[in-house]
Amino acid sequence: MAHALNLYKAEEKPWYSKGLRFKCTGCGECCTGAPGYVWVSKEEIIAMAELLQLSVDKFSKKYIRQVGGRHSLIEDPKTFDCVFLKDKKCTIYRVRPKQCQTFPWWVQNLRSEEDWQKASAYCEGINHPDASIVPCETITDEVNNSPI
Ligand code: SF4
Repeated sequence: MAHALNLYKAEEKPWYSKGLRFKCTGCGECCTGAPGYVWVSKEEIIAMAELLQLSVDKFSKKYIRQVGGRHSLIEDPKTFDCVFLKDKKCTIYRVRPKQCQTFPWWVQNLRSEEDWQKASAYCEGINHPDASIVPCETITDEVNNSPI
């Protein structure tokens, strides 16, 4: 809820009140780029460990780093790509963390139209000509669901 309040005052409509055009093409660009964090919860760690048939302990030693009081997936030390990105595809897609599921509906991409256009520079699904309009209510729900 805090995210939504960050975007606009309760009585005002957000700038994206008419919805936004988006369709994921599966290009994998959002799993690459500058160093960053993919925040994961305990439940998400368990689900990923199960998928890879590893104990939570082994999975955590191999794929998780602690940052302050939070946990993040590690990334490739050379490219900074997500450690689970292979041939531009997510190898744990079925149990990918909420942060990944909710992209591009992150506060940082939605504060203003300018931020949304900036995100479109690396996400080809934003404003994609074949995309339908995602309604404002759906966008706000996704923002509230995202851990960042
Ligand atoms: S960058 Fe955009 S279009 Fe490409 S995989 Fe990520 S969400 Fe989908």
